[in-house]
Amino acid sequence: MALRYPKPLEDLVRELSRLPGIGGKTAQRLAFHILSMEDSQAGALADSIRRAKSEMKYCPVCGNLTDREPCAICADESRDRTQICVVEQAGDVIAIERMKEYKGLYHVLHGAISPMDGIGPEDIALKELIVRLQDSEVEEVILATNPTIEGEATAMYAARLIKPSGIKVSRIAHGIPVGGDLEYTDEVTLARALDGRREL
Ligand SMILES: [Zn+2]
Repeated sequence: MALRYPKPLEDLVRELSRLPGIGGKTAQRLAFHILSMEDSQAGALADSIRRAKSEMKYCPVCGNLTDREPCAICADESRDRTQICVVEQAGDVIAIERMKEYKGLYHVLHGAISPMDGIGPEDIALKELIVRLQDSEVEEVILATNPTIEGEATAMYAARLIKPSGIKVSRIAHGIPVGGDLEYTDEVTLARALDGRREL
C-alpha cells in the first residue's frame, strides 16, 4: 500500500467507503466521479446531504423519518387508528406504503433484538410501542419485522409484551417469493408460507 492519495481525495474515499455496500474500489471510483462532476452538481450533492441531515428527523410518535412533527402518516386523519404495523426500519414503511394496501399506522423499532450483537429489547423502540398502546384506540398490532432470526425473536418478544393487554397481535406471513419454486424453498420459508395461508 505504497500508493497514497493527496489528503482531500483520501478523505473523500475514506468517507465514501464508510457507506454500506461500498468497498474500497467503489469508493475510489465514486470519488473520482465526484471530482469529475461540475462544481454545481458536486455542490448540490453535498448540500442535499447536509440539508437532509439537518431537516429530517424521527417522528416523535411512530419513529418514521419525517421533515415535520408528527409525520404525514401520523397526522393523516383518514388513516385507520386501530391498527399499528411494527417494522424494524423507516425504509420498511416506504416499502409497505408502496403497496398502497395498508391504511393503518406504523411503529418503527429502529432495529431488532440480536443477543449476538449485544442488542437487547431495551435498545430498540419497544418501550415506546408499549407506552403508545396504553389508552389508545389500537385494536391490532401487526408485527412486520424481517423473516430473520433477529426479526422473529423481536416479533415473539413483542407479542409476549402486548398480548396481556388484550390487543390482537398478528404476524405478517412470509412465504414463497413470486417466481419461486416449492421444490427449492427451504423448510422454514415453506412452513411460514403454510402457516400464513388464507382462505380463498
Ligand atoms: Zn409518525
